Amino acid sequence: MSSSENSDRLLPVKNRLEPFWLCERDPVLQNARTTPELPRAVDVVVVGSGLTGAMIAYHLYLEAEKMGKRINVIMLEADEVCSGATARNGGHCKPIPFVGFRSEAAKHGQTIANHLLTFEAAALKQYADLVTKEDISCDMHVTRAFDIFFREDDAASGKKDYEARKAAFPRDVAGQDIRTVHDPKELEKLTGIKGGCYGASYPAGHLWPYKLATALIHIAIGKGLNLQTHTPVLSIKESTTQPGQWEVTTPRGSITTGQVIVASNAYTSGFLPEFKDLIFPVRGTACSITPAPSHSHGALPGPIKYTYGFRHGPGEVDYMIPRQGRGRIPGVGDRSLILGGAKGGFLNDLTQWYDNKRDDQYMPGAKEYFAGFMKKHFADWNGDEKGNVDKVWSGVLGYSADLLPYVGEVPDKPGVFVCAGFTGHGMPRIPGCSAAISSLVASRIQNGFITASAQKTFHDALPQPYWLTGERYTSKVNLIKAAMGQGDETKGALENSDEAVLAGRAVRAKL
Ligand SMILES: Cc1cc2nc3c(=O)[nH]c(=O)nc-3n(C[C@H](O)[C@H](O)[C@H](O)COP(=O)(O)OP(=O)(O)OC[C@H]3O[C@@H](n4cnc5c(N)ncnc54)[C@H](O)[C@@H]3O)c2cc1C
Repeated sequence: MSSSENSDRLLPVKNRLEPFWLCERDPVLQNARTTPELPRAVDVVVVGSGLTGAMIAYHLYLEAEKMGKRINVIMLEADEVCSGATARNGGHCKPIPFVGFRSEAAKHGQTIANHLLTFEAAALKQYADLVTKEDISCDMHVTRAFDIFFREDDAASGKKDYEARKAAFPRDVAGQDIRTVHDPKELEKLTGIKGGCYGASYPAGHLWPYKLATALIHIAIGKGLNLQTHTPVLSIKESTTQPGQWEVTTPRGSITTGQVIVASNAYTSGFLPEFKDLIFPVRGTACSITPAPSHSHGALPGPIKYTYGFRHGPGEVDYMIPRQGRGRIPGVGDRSLILGGAKGGFLNDLTQWYDNKRDDQYMPGAKEYFAGFMKKHFADWNGDEKGNVDKVWSGVLGYSADLLPYVGEVPDKPGVFVCAGFTGHGMPRIPGCSAAISSLVASRIQNGFITASAQKTFHDALPQPYWLTGERYTSKVNLIKAAMGQGDETKGALENSDEAVLAGRAVRAKL
């Protein structure tokens, strides 16, 4: 591949900014190639080694064990192992518990709107079960998330969403243990955060996503997975010699396969051009912060225990997790805070974030914003003049045109499956999506086609708006800029769409 071809193609860029999460790279997997050459044929090609690809590989081998079948799976990764969004994110596993409920209900009906929320809420237990079952060291911590609303109008809308979901699905709301706080003084006392006018807390978690993904890849390799890093997929075409098979081409040769699972998120259209109008690279930013003395052990107010969503207004949300140490003794070791967002500095300049894959560059204004953040928001914070910020980095999120992931078989490509477009909110969605897609693919491997019962299981498991239907596949609607309140399309998109849906989705979407 010539260098000009490489720079035009949507692939990860070189010399990317170093995120906190890559400070302990996996020396075995980082540049691994399980076999020196690519095999000529396999049962399944998985494209991408982020959390989605890792979970899919893990589940595929579980499915194979259930079927009592040996399968050959290869994972192709364009760069180092797991060096995309999974290595650059906020580590926050936070379901959305009610914001946007009314707008999704207006579009899909209440039952589907509720399914979108219960699906996300289920992820926390899925992570906990997985980490426990496989004894994975990824600093997983289950706590409560606190959403802090700073604007009265945003809070009023949030309250209406909460009341609407509670009235329609009281058992789900009670089961999710959502607690709302209306008194600003009480809110500050509980959270240590100044200036909020309304808050809601509910179970959430955080973990080291890179460590979880690489641990799963190790397990899959133990069961037969072939991992090939620095091997970008360039195209997926119908085999001209073997009907019903696909030819997956890389600079190191081609592989023939019956099944491909695309888990390349933001970069999907780099080799599947049909996704050019469906999944867009959107650049975001995060940082790591060393807790100030005021927020360390033995001090008052002491270590931060909740995760946070700072809701400055619709669509403008910062998020933060307090790491709880490293290793087997909870609370001991690195306790960095990971903070992301900082949209105020760049959102108005579309070129800085929309269709932008340059995670080798800082987002404008991010360093300054993060430096002032803790002192501005946390009572009694006594950090240094740089806000105790250690690392600042950028990352590329895969935004889908309608702001929800695409999961399923590509309508005009039997055997090619996509699980991508997580729109900055992958952690609570990836476990359920990757398990569902893996069982669909397993059915195809076992039977040569997807059985009706496998299709039904898939449809029951996933919220309907995630399904990769023909309608979504051919849709030309793009809500991304409008959801962020930007761009010429804003007016048109708002006129053509349910404005409430856009407003609700804007609140869900996150950079
Ligand atoms: C700054 C930032 C903060 C975030 N914060 C959060 C958060 O706190 N909570 C949350 O839920 N979500 C968050 N997200 C989103 C979350 O990180 C993603 O939803 C999730 O990591 C997606 O995982 P993935 O495996 O689908 O994609 P990725 O991790 O991006 O993996 C895709 C992989 O595919 C590879 N690839 C690309 N093209 C090719 C090709 N042609 N051939 C082979 N391989 C290819 C890439 O190199 C990459 O390794 C954040 C994202 C960013 C960038």
